[in-house]
Amino acid sequence: MSRILIIEDELPLQRALADNFSFESYEVLTAADGDTGYRLAKEKNPDLVILDLMLPRMSGYDVCRKLRAEGVSTPILMLTARGEEADRVVGLDLGADDYVTKPFSVRELNARVRALLRRPVPLRTLPDELRLDNIRINFRSYEASRNGRSLDLTRKEYQLLRLLVSRDGEAVTRDELLNEVWGQETYVTTRTVDTHVSNLRAKLEQDPHHPRRLITVHGVGYRWLAESS
Ligand code: CA
Repeated sequence: MSRILIIEDELPLQRALADNFSFESYEVLTAADGDTGYRLAKEKNPDLVILDLMLPRMSGYDVCRKLRAEGVSTPILMLTARGEEADRVVGLDLGADDYVTKPFSVRELNARVRALLRRPVPLRTLPDELRLDNIRINFRSYEASRNGRSLDLTRKEYQLLRLLVSRDGEAVTRDELLNEVWGQETYVTTRTVDTHVSNLRAKLEQDPHHPRRLITVHGVGYRWLAESS
């Protein structure tokens, strides 16, 4: 049974969320302030955290930042108020995985939670090689070159790239990349994915600051584009 931690100081909302998730057969933990929520997130090992932003004692941002800085990669779904676009962007930058805007429908929330808790198994075959522009990569022999000069890619970079290439054109979430490439390794966060993507860009893109192949899908993750638009 998946365990959900709800960190929300508006008690009627906290109670409604707790009832909803209990009804959906999740094990529910609750906290009404950031500090308690942060401690429960660390000590009780929840599978998902629902995190309000405006909280007493420690803001939702700080909870998120501290957990990620300490290597806790539990999915975090933020609750934001309407019109707080900047807040959402900051929250996602701090390592939250998704958000819903208040007021939200229970159906939407449940769908987001299910999506975050899903641990996808790769169904499609991974490609053995990539030949594009002047890039040649063999994912089996771990050999790569660009313009005939050999490229030094780390094993994780090969794995990450291979997964993205296998999903050509499709946005792959940072969490999914993390699960597939790093699995149960500790001390990695979605930030780790970002770092590897930026290293790959430096090696593969003509202009790493304006990538044409390894595209950021804001608030979601990354997309490999074989066909540039
Ligand atoms: Ca609040």
